[in-house]
Amino acid sequence: MAIRYISTRGLAPTLNFEEVLLAGLASDGGLYVPDRLPRFTPEQIRGFRGMRYNELAFEILMPFVEGSIPSADLQTLIDAAYAEFLHDAVAPLVQLDHNQWVMELFHGPTLAFKDFALQLLGRLLDYMLERRQQKVVIMGATSGDTGSAAIEGCRHCKNIDIFILYPHNRVSEVQRRQMTTVAGSNIHNLAIEGNFDDCQAMVKASFVATPFLPEQRSLVAVNSINWARIMAQIVYYFYAALALGGPDRAVNFSVPTGNFGDIFAGYLARGMGLPIDQLVIATNRNDVLHRLLTTGEYARQSLAQSLSPSMDITVSSNFERLMFDLYQRDDTAVRELMAAFNDGAINLSDSAMATARGLFSSQCVSDHDTCAEIQRVWRQNGYLLDPHSAIGTRAALDCARHQEQPMVTLATAHPAKFPAAIAEAGVDTVAVLPSHLSDLFERTERFTVLPNDLDVVQQHMASHVTA
Ligand SMILES: *Cc1c(COP(=O)(O)O)cnc(C)c1O
Repeated sequence: MAIRYISTRGLAPTLNFEEVLLAGLASDGGLYVPDRLPRFTPEQIRGFRGMRYNELAFEILMPFVEGSIPSADLQTLIDAAYAEFLHDAVAPLVQLDHNQWVMELFHGPTLAFKDFALQLLGRLLDYMLERRQQKVVIMGATSGDTGSAAIEGCRHCKNIDIFILYPHNRVSEVQRRQMTTVAGSNIHNLAIEGNFDDCQAMVKASFVATPFLPEQRSLVAVNSINWARIMAQIVYYFYAALALGGPDRAVNFSVPTGNFGDIFAGYLARGMGLPIDQLVIATNRNDVLHRLLTTGEYARQSLAQSLSPSMDITVSSNFERLMFDLYQRDDTAVRELMAAFNDGAINLSDSAMATARGLFSSQCVSDHDTCAEIQRVWRQNGYLLDPHSAIGTRAALDCARHQEQPMVTLATAHPAKFPAAIAEAGVDTVAVLPSHLSDLFERTERFTVLPNDLDVVQQHMASHVTA
C-alpha cells in the first residue's frame, strides 16, 4: 500500500503524496510525516552501489511518491532538477583527513544545500499543478538562502507565482542579488521594512488568514515544513555512505543545523536501513538544540547574529517531527507539548531524552571557534570552508566516538557566499564565485520595498499575481 502522510498533532486529515506536496503545514498546526518508512535490507542497499546520484535518488524517493507519480515521470523530474548542478557528481566527497570527509552540497544554482530540495520541489509542484490544471502562489520569508533557492527552483514554473519577503537592507549583498537579479514575471521580491521575524510573521498570518488572493489561488509553503523538501535530502546520506563502504560499514555524519530539516533527513535515512552510527547536531550560538540535548529543556531564547546567518534561529520547527517519534507517535502528547511550548519552554520526559541522546550527539560552536576552524582547515588542507560547514567539521572533531569509521560533514554552502566571515577568520584568499554568477554584481535588480504592514503586502500580492 502507498505511504500516507499523517500530522504530528493527529487532528488533520491523512494525505497522499500529491496532497502533502501542496499542503505545507497541517491544518491542526502540526507537521506531516510518512505513516511508515520504506525499509531497505543490506542486500538491497548493496544493490545501489555504483549508481549515479540521479539513479539512487529514484530508488530512495519512489516509495514516498508511489500512487501519486508514475515512475518514468519521477525519473524525468529528478534528472531535470539535478541537471542544474555544476558538478557531475552532484554531491562530491572531499577527504580532509583519515576518516574525515566533507560532502559538498553547494554545487547547485544558488551555492547552498537548499538547492537539493528546492530544485526538485519546484518541478514536482509544476508537474502536479499542470496535471490538476491549477495555479498557486508560493509565499516565503527568508533571511538569505531559502529565498534564492526557492526562486531558482520555481523560475521556470508556469503555474506558480513566487513572492519572497526579506528584511530590507538586512541580507547580504550576494544573497540579495541572488534573489533580485533573477528575471521572470512570476518572481516577486518584497523587501520589507522590518526584520526577519516580521517577514515570517506575515507569511504565517497569510496562511491562516481568509483568502486574499484572486481566483481562489491557494498558498503553498516552501520552507522546510514542506515534507517534499525533507524527502529530497535523504538521498545524499545514502550516496555518501555507499561511497564509503556502506552498508557493510557504519558511517557518521555531522550536520550544521538550524531548523533541524537537514539532519532529520539523516535520521530518516537511518530509519530506512542505512547503517549510520553517529549523527552530530552542529549549531552556532543559537543553540536551542544543543541545550535541549544537554539539559532536556526545549526553550526559546532571543536571536543572536552570528557568522553563520543561515543557522540563526530561535526554534527548530522540524524538531516536532522527531518529537513525534520520541513519544512513540503519540499525537496527543505532541499536541500538549507544543501548546505548552507557546509559553517559551518545555521539558521532555526522561525516556524521550534517553532516546534522543542515543540518536544524536551535539555541539555548539562559537564565532571565534568557527573562525579558528576555517583557518585550521585552510592551513592543514588548503581547503576553504564556509562558516556553516566549519561549524560542522569542528563539531565532528569534538564529538567523534568512532575514530575507525568515516565521519562526513555536510558542507552546506559555498565559501564565496560568505567572504566577510572568511576575511574575519584571517584567511588571506578570496573564494571565487562560479562562472554562472561571476557577473552577479553587474546584473539588474528587481524588488519592491513595502512597509511592515500585512494589508499592504497582501494587497500588493493580490494585484501582482500573473494571469
Ligand atoms: C538552511 C541552512 C542550514 C540549516 O539547515 P536546516 O535544515 O535548517 O537545519 C545550514 N547551512 C546553510 C548554508 C543553510 O542555508
